[in-house]
Amino acid sequence: EISICWLRRDLRLEDNAALYEALKGPFPVLLLFIFDKNILSKLADKKDARVTFIQQTLEELNSGLQKTGTGILAKYGTPEEVWPEVLSKYNVRSVYANHDYEPAARERDDTLGEYLQSEQIAFHTFKDQVIFEKGEITKADGKPYTVFTPYFRQWQQKLNEFYIKAYPVKKYADNFFPLKGLEIPSLAEMGFEASSISFPSKDFAAKLDAYENRRDYPAADATSHIGIHLRFGTISIREAAREAVARNAQKWLSELAWRDFYMMILWHFPYTATQSFKPAYDHIKWRNEESEFEAWCQGNTGYPIVDAGMRQLNETGYMHNRVRMIVASFLTKHLLIDWRWGEAYFAEKLLDYEMASNVGGWQWACGSGNDAAPYFRIFNPELQTKKFDPESRYINRWLPAYKQQKHVLPIVEHAFARERVLKVFKEALNEN
Ligand code: FAD
Repeated sequence: EISICWLRRDLRLEDNAALYEALKGPFPVLLLFIFDKNILSKLADKKDARVTFIQQTLEELNSGLQKTGTGILAKYGTPEEVWPEVLSKYNVRSVYANHDYEPAARERDDTLGEYLQSEQIAFHTFKDQVIFEKGEITKADGKPYTVFTPYFRQWQQKLNEFYIKAYPVKKYADNFFPLKGLEIPSLAEMGFEASSISFPSKDFAAKLDAYENRRDYPAADATSHIGIHLRFGTISIREAAREAVARNAQKWLSELAWRDFYMMILWHFPYTATQSFKPAYDHIKWRNEESEFEAWCQGNTGYPIVDAGMRQLNETGYMHNRVRMIVASFLTKHLLIDWRWGEAYFAEKLLDYEMASNVGGWQWACGSGNDAAPYFRIFNPELQTKKFDPESRYINRWLPAYKQQKHVLPIVEHAFARERVLKVFKEALNEN
């Protein structure tokens, strides 16, 4: 008789809610990971860096565990295939996992829950990847907040040691199910190749002290880069929050709250994954000019700050937050291209891609999302550059000199684009 702890986006042995609860329970615990074919088959790039990251992380965890006589049972397949196989091989009495708030993940977990129930196996799930989840921060009438400021006020008030203390997994480490010889599927076995992109380190703490003053300057590179670690759980959100509280890094803490906020929005309003939060915005007559989209993707718009950002993204899988806002505004407002196109491109490229934050960020930039700002806020790329990259240090780092020459014509003229988007947005929003 055993329990299974199913790892998904919580790839760590420390401070892991489901793992802690499983180990504390009555049966020895076997760790399971599924390289989900349903997800992997949708990835166009066979060198996808995120797949490399997951595979490497599991190799490391597994080799550590093998030294203590256990390991990770890692399977390549769909959950629908893998679960019956695992249940036929082991006498599983209960399954533990951490909550996942994305629509497809919820569906997957609901289906598994029903299946396990039919097999009379208990399914226990826990909050792990956020500080406060779904219904924990609500308005007085129990409804979810849809604007960040009042949400954050309550988030801050509620935050105390209880919510950020670590789950002491080690205490129960002798309850792992002993199993030798476990191997993680190689990238090649799954039809992937190793990416050459280098991954951000986990040492984020040193970045926090100067964060508030320098975070908005892309050349300063003064942010933590822990997005990928929060995405796959290689750093616990509670550890991140504890460090922020210890250093009184309030601004950085508020960014972690934005992450919670967007996850909660996606949970309460799953339609926003593909539709505008404010429905009227789905009446906008986007131009969706493919050649212009391609120019934007490749960093060939003739706007240096936009092009530098897209090149940083294409080369490293990362883009600075200020520049994400600029390029997103540029695509949706200057080029009048549907925010979903940009969202999909970021989803393909970002190491730290997180559906909730990405959809939230894109809808914020286009004006269709959880924000009180009016749609006529249109970023002017030149003014943004003057303010946040005054010496063009960021631009020079990412954009070859010849691309910055005056003779590279901008894809669209700013004043013209501004008038055009105001007219198109007004038409769509007024008629509703
Ligand atoms: P830091 O500034 O050091 O912040 C620490 C952590 O807080 C981040 O890693 C992230 O987990 C969280 N965070 C910070 N800012 C935000 C924010 N505005 N919204 C939600 N969480 C935040 N963030 C993602 O994690 N994944 C995405 O796919 C993503 N897509 C975005 C798309 C657009 C159009 C925009 C404008 C923003 C997007 N963001 C996204 C938010 C933000 O840009 C990144 O989280 C941040 O740049 C990551 O760098 P960092 O780890 O150095 O962040």
